[in-house]
Amino acid sequence: MSVQSPDRPAIGSADAPPAVPIYRALLPGADALLPYLRIIDANRHYANRGELVRRLETRLRERIAAPGCAVLTAASGTAALQAAILAQTGRADPARPFALIAGYTFVATAMAAEACGYTPVFVDIDPATWAIDPATLRRHDRLARTGIVLAVAPYGRPHDQQAWVDFASSTGVPVVIDAAASFEALMQNPATLTGTVPVVLSFHATKAFATGEGGAVIWSDIEGLKRCARAMNFGFLYSRESRAAGFNGKMSEYHAAIGLAALDGWDATAAASARLAARYRAIAMRAGLGDRLILAPEIASNYALFRADSRSDPLASCACLEAAAIEHRFWYGPGLHREPYFAAHRPAALPATEACAAALLGIPVFPDIDEPAIERIIAALARTAP
Ligand SMILES: *Cc1c(COP(=O)(O)O)cnc(C)c1O
Repeated sequence: MSVQSPDRPAIGSADAPPAVPIYRALLPGADALLPYLRIIDANRHYANRGELVRRLETRLRERIAAPGCAVLTAASGTAALQAAILAQTGRADPARPFALIAGYTFVATAMAAEACGYTPVFVDIDPATWAIDPATLRRHDRLARTGIVLAVAPYGRPHDQQAWVDFASSTGVPVVIDAAASFEALMQNPATLTGTVPVVLSFHATKAFATGEGGAVIWSDIEGLKRCARAMNFGFLYSRESRAAGFNGKMSEYHAAIGLAALDGWDATAAASARLAARYRAIAMRAGLGDRLILAPEIASNYALFRADSRSDPLASCACLEAAAIEHRFWYGPGLHREPYFAAHRPAALPATEACAAALLGIPVFPDIDEPAIERIIAALARTAP
């Protein structure tokens, strides 16, 4: 069996042992979807905020939003980011052309800012949180010409909503938190993670809670959420007059059906992923690698990270995984500022981002990964990690 993913060549071959893919999504099956599909058949309402989208938003609000916040779904996490940026501050203008963006994130964060006309300026992270430190950002030399700050909750690690509320009120610069993978963190702690700074989620197939493609904005500012909805519907709100910058970013009824079925099964999904993380951790501990693995609940359950330390070379770990036909990935690449496209901006070096990007290696974890596969991953890593 070989593993094909869009950004990596196939690994493994006909006579090699089966490859372990980095991720293998498992979304609700046809039987779980059918009752919802029948509702779509009866309504003949397929897009534009139908019954299932509204039901999904209500059920999400009950579980992942602080009291007083609401949830607005989107076609993707990237669409939700663009909508939140447009709702916060509109398109870039010459007085405020910059978006300050965490260097350690998935490329979508910066792509969303660019789509709204902003020039990305990458900011280094705090090595302890892997995220921008709001106190340090107050002294950034471009702040006076910044239209929007895009903070990131890397790998779904809990972010500091209150610190960003304070940052926005003391600097006057609006903030959006890209918490794309934070569904589980929000489930644990909706009251402190959501509030007056909008939080964006992705429901992409590789996230722990997935609708295939999808996303959401969670925010206490109901007028702000209306501006998000307007941005994602061509600038229309309650009329056919286009009144603001927009695009098509709406979630369809079919995607909402998947989300509703995923919520129906969520408690079982969550229990299974907690058991899996505990098992993974136990196997790593037996090999003496307990302190090198980062798993749920510290990060979202769709990620498992192997942390290289000063005694080990992450590239040697990659080579051992490669030799064992185990797919692996630096999920956020070398840091956004070093992606070829963004390198054209000639950004400054970001030492903490680069150190984190090189040290945190993504290894396989997915709902039905089996124990022999985990044993094989840990054995391969143990060959390189003293
Ligand atoms: C997944 C992810 C996104 C993109 O979400 P899409 O739904 O694929 O558009 C953005 N930012 C981060 C940090 C992500 O992990």
